[in-house]
Amino acid sequence: MSSHKKIIIITAPSGSGKTTLIRNLMNVVDNLSFSISACTRQPRANEQDGKDYYFFTEERFKELMAEEAFLEWEMVYEGKYYGTLRSELDRIWNTGETPLFDIDVQGAVNLQQQFEDNSLSIFIQPPSIQELQRRLESRGTETDESVAERVSKAVSEQEFASKFDTVIINDDLEEATEKLIHIVKDFLSE
Ligand code: 5GP
Repeated sequence: MSSHKKIIIITAPSGSGKTTLIRNLMNVVDNLSFSISACTRQPRANEQDGKDYYFFTEERFKELMAEEAFLEWEMVYEGKYYGTLRSELDRIWNTGETPLFDIDVQGAVNLQQQFEDNSLSIFIQPPSIQELQRRLESRGTETDESVAERVSKAVSEQEFASKFDTVIINDDLEEATEKLIHIVKDFLSE
């Protein structure tokens, strides 16, 4: 199968440093295109509709669910839906690029099952739960309640790490970036 029918799935507990790693990867490896998810949470101050997410009302999101417009969707946090639109995958494949997914662990398992050998799935692991909590608190974008929810989700997500093709421990950012770039380049050249 040619590389434009492949997908790359990157998943991690919130606060694992995944976003920085993905940015570093995309600066180095050409022809990757970030798959923009749909969600129903409020945009953060620096986020743009159609760039960071497609921000929908819950009503619109549910209409799209009924139309089977999603490849996968999850209620990632209480009352907040996130999902991958089928149209997003086609949009990227039509440009000849490889879609890169940054999604939660359940969504990643789901996509991996749908794409099997045409997918590369990577789990980014924080060095420890204490470090993850520290990172989430210092980010300053989450309430205490949201930090607690994300930490408890991270603990349960950890159990899924072994389901993925590769686990990268994000202890040293430079080393983790190197490893990620290497694995992705290998997969794209297969
Ligand atoms: P945040 O609210 O911090 O942007 O994202 C919360 C979580 O939702 C992250 O773990 C992120 O990976 C996940 N997420 C983002 N997009 C999707 C998606 O399309 N599907 C699923 N299942 N999870 C997603």
